[in-house]
Amino acid sequence: MKRTKRKTRFRILVCNDDGIHSPGLAVAEDIARSLSDDIWVVAPETEQSGASHSLTLTLPLRLRHAGHQRFALSGTPTDCVMMAGIHIMKNALPDLVISGVNRGFNVADDVTYSGTVAAAMEGSVLGIPSVALSQAVGGREDEAAIFACAARHGARLMRRLVEIGWPESVLLNINFPPLPPGKVKKVLVTSQGQRDQSMLRVDERVDARGRTYYWVGFRRVFSEPEAGTDLHAIAQGCISVTPLHLDLTAFREKQRLEAQLDGSIVRLGRQMQESGGVPLRRRKKSSTRFRRTER
Ligand code: MN
Repeated sequence: MKRTKRKTRFRILVCNDDGIHSPGLAVAEDIARSLSDDIWVVAPETEQSGASHSLTLTLPLRLRHAGHQRFALSGTPTDCVMMAGIHIMKNALPDLVISGVNRGFNVADDVTYSGTVAAAMEGSVLGIPSVALSQAVGGREDEAAIFACAARHGARLMRRLVEIGWPESVLLNINFPPLPPGKVKKVLVTSQGQRDQSMLRVDERVDARGRTYYWVGFRRVFSEPEAGTDLHAIAQGCISVTPLHLDLTAFREKQRLEAQLDGSIVRLGRQMQESGGVPLRRRKKSSTRFRRTER
């Protein structure tokens, strides 16, 4: 096949949090290959779902060569992107990082737990435009059926997004609904939603030696997601594209604190003595739900 000059120049790093053997990684590689011939894969040796943006600082990392421009690392998704950017690809950094396709969606509060999103965050830290791709499962078992939606629509969506472009300080969190590809309605640009925390659960069990152990998990039930959010888009059968950034500052609260907090340490001590404690203002959850786009 004759390669165009543009195609060979555009370098893509593919990583994930489900591990080097995950079927979703193959889907992400196919999506990447529709954009370029210069694909590099650095993925965790074992599943790292829920690893968040963690780094391995207390153990050595083993890098295993797993094919042409393909590596497995005994670390977290963040380790993988760092290792790619600082070591493996240091002489020619990727133009794009694609993380995923994760088995299961990463919406609302998932974003802060997700290793898939964290790998894209690390790409952003390295100054590379990055995307996280996640496929909602919806209780299905068949792997090909699960990833069919991302497999069918991912390449076209990514091509269009690369054409439009986005700043490297922003990462795109893309979620595919748990539907056959033909049933997907549209692509919606969304904000990060908020999950109902009652969905968190801990199972208490007893092992073969009579000792108690626990499994932490989620009950995947939608309550009433707010319109315009990633949760709502998936519930409506749409593909969700959420631009995220790493600056977690609550800017409205910063303004309020600046207006109310006297910077004088002497006066602060006196005020504390007078008030006799720190009454934390607890607001209703809904009133703290600022729009993420407030910056
Ligand atoms: Mn995962």
